[in-house]
Order: sequence, then C-alpha cells, then structure tokens
Amino acid sequence: MRYRKSPGHLGNAVAAVSVGAAFVSGCTAPPAPPRLTYTYSVRTAGPVHTDVRVLSTLADGVYADPRGWSVGGKIAFREVPAGGDFTLWLATSSAVPTFSPVCSVLYSCTVGRNVIINEARLTAGPPGYRWPDTLESYRTMVLNHETGHWLGLGHRFCGAPGAAAPVMQQQSISLQGCRANAWPLPAEITAVAAPRRL
Ligand SMILES: [Zn+2]
Repeated sequence: MRYRKSPGHLGNAVAAVSVGAAFVSGCTAPPAPPRLTYTYSVRTAGPVHTDVRVLSTLADGVYADPRGWSVGGKIAFREVPAGGDFTLWLATSSAVPTFSPVCSVLYSCTVGRNVIINEARLTAGPPGYRWPDTLESYRTMVLNHETGHWLGLGHRFCGAPGAAAPVMQQQSISLQGCRANAWPLPAEITAVAAPRRL
C-alpha cells in the first residue's frame, strides 16, 4: 500500500529560495521537526487471518500523510515495539466487544488507549452498503476516524448533501447524503490542533 506524499509543506521554502537564486533550485529547507510525537504499538486480538503488517503499513502511511492528523507535520506518530501512547489493535469481530460493552462486533472502536480496528471492516468495507471508493480509502477513513477518537474528537454529522463527510462522521453506518471521505476536514484538523496550540 502506498500513499502519495504531497509536497505542499515545502511549497513556501521552494518559493523563498528560487527568487534570484536559480543555482539552489532543487534545494529546499528541511521540514520543521514535529512539535509533538505520539508513539503507538500494533497488536492483534483474537485469531485474526489478516497479516498485522497490513495495519501497521496502513498506519505508517496514513499517520505521516499531510492530509491527516499530522497537522501538516506538526504531529509525528511513531510505531514502537510495545506500549506507547496508544495501542492499535487488529481485532477479530468477536474480539472487539471484549474491550468494552459499548463496542460492537460490526464496527471498529476506540476505548481509552485502545484504538481497535475490526478485521471484518478492514477486509470487507462497511457492513451495510457498498463503499463508493477504494477499499484503501475506506481503511484510511476507519483508521483516521478511530484515531480521531483517541485524539479526543467525538462524532460529527454530514454538513450538507453532497459535501465531503467529516472523517468523524460514522460513515461505516451511513454517508447521510455526504460524499465518502477518508481524511479529516479542515475544521476537524483545527479541533485537534487548537487545544495543543499547534
Ligand atoms: Zn466513532
């Protein structure tokens, strides 16, 4: 699985050095280091059939993507072998409710430090309708949604028919007339960035 990395965060640096300095064309200032780093470990719950590396590779790409919770590179997510700030679980459907009675066999769930990805959703998309985009985009949405809960966000609702769905909308249940969307909307990014003063 590969994710396209947007060079957007380097745009200003490129513009700055290109004025009257053609010889440095191609040189860019290194991106600013992250101001916040969250660590996570990846584990399995129940007898999963999917290679856990599918989830760790997904997380690696999605967390580093400038469209996501990295807030344009200000937050870094780093996988560690054990422990970390949160645990990203690849769980069989029946294992999901063992984390909390509020979790359903049908969906993914986040409880405390546990971000639990339902294996059935990772392999088959939403349970009740056909996701109108790629499976990869659905997986991205699920990971961003559950990680958004860990970052402190609650659910949001479709803003207007045909608009991009907030990533914190429960898109696995219904698109509510919105367009399927895997990435946080600007207001959702702000909701993560502002309390952290990023
Ligand atoms: Zn949710």
